[in-house]
Amino acid sequence: GKGLAVFTSGGDSQGMNAAVRAVVRMGIYLGCKVFFIKEGYQGMVDGGDNIVEATWSSVSSIIHKGGTIIGSARCQEFRERSGRLKAAKNLVARGITNLVVIGGDGSLTGANLFRSEWSSLLDELVQSGQITKEQQTKFAHLHIAGMVGSIDNDFCGTDMTIGTDSALHRITEAIDAIASTAYSHQRTFIMEVMGRHCGYLAIVTALTSEADYVFVPEMPPPRDWPTKLCSKLEQERSTGQRLNIIIVAEGAIDQDGEPITAEKVRQVVVENLQQDTRITVLGHVQRGGNPSAFDRVLGCRMGAEAVMALMEATPETESCVVSLDGNQAVRLPLMECVEKTKAVTKAMASKDWENAVQLRGKS
Ligand code: ADP
Repeated sequence: GKGLAVFTSGGDSQGMNAAVRAVVRMGIYLGCKVFFIKEGYQGMVDGGDNIVEATWSSVSSIIHKGGTIIGSARCQEFRERSGRLKAAKNLVARGITNLVVIGGDGSLTGANLFRSEWSSLLDELVQSGQITKEQQTKFAHLHIAGMVGSIDNDFCGTDMTIGTDSALHRITEAIDAIASTAYSHQRTFIMEVMGRHCGYLAIVTALTSEADYVFVPEMPPPRDWPTKLCSKLEQERSTGQRLNIIIVAEGAIDQDGEPITAEKVRQVVVENLQQDTRITVLGHVQRGGNPSAFDRVLGCRMGAEAVMALMEATPETESCVVSLDGNQAVRLPLMECVEKTKAVTKAMASKDWENAVQLRGKS
């Protein structure tokens, strides 16, 4: 059967295990020899015990687990050609020519580069006697399918990235817990949630928790936000509301591109309204815990689709990323989606907020 390997790379997220499980089982079902690559690109470069054959039962009892059981890592070596050469040798030695990468835009960019270099890497391996001519011919084409695992929902091309829904659940639970104590003491709570470049988690959880104000990276507030914020908080209190909730995405910025931190917001509230104001930074809790039913199903569907895409691929087929569009699993050109995602970050960096929001809207 065809050699197929799956790995997780970059930041972890809930639902990655469901995706790994689906890749392994769909691969075996379609007659592939399936491998795990542990610790992302680092495992691919290092080889040895990091690349092991997967069995049907090796992915039992993992669908409910958060994080990724096969490990994830950042890998400097893979950014260099010499690292990718080692990785290519390790794949050829095992007959692996199909890769499923589960990660963020960095991981997908690396995979695309690897594929574009594949034939020249194989040439070099033959010349230095590390693989045979027969191996070169047999494993001449590398195929890649990506899926996006990220709690931030920060990738253009998919309605939801794997892990986002679970993070929303985690944040909502935390805000509910805070709200009950805030209510008792008539406090104001500022919650810092993840999202360095993407305000999705902040916006959605602001809605689900009836927050009074939300700060996100893509859409800085008007310059007089301190006044607007305080009058909104006062207005809510004057109509009998006993607490205030403010959500701040970790990448929130003002019109000048300066960070709007939870601490800055707290000072504004305390100085102007003298409210008892507390900050909660949710941190890695948002990434942790069991995946939601939605993320489990999403991981299953994306994983199965990725394997089917690889099995149908010809040497001419573009690398794809498997995405959710409406309620459909679709295959989109990998690099186009990566470029769009990078364009959003670029638009934000150049303070082109309108463009950032518009590009993000197409995600
Ligand atoms: P994410 O995939 O979550 O965006 P990173 O950007 O840290 O996370 O990328 C994860 C890994 O992917 C990196 O540690 C590196 O090994 C590999 N990678 C990222 N960008 C590139 C690139 N341009 N070329 C080669 N490898 C890359």
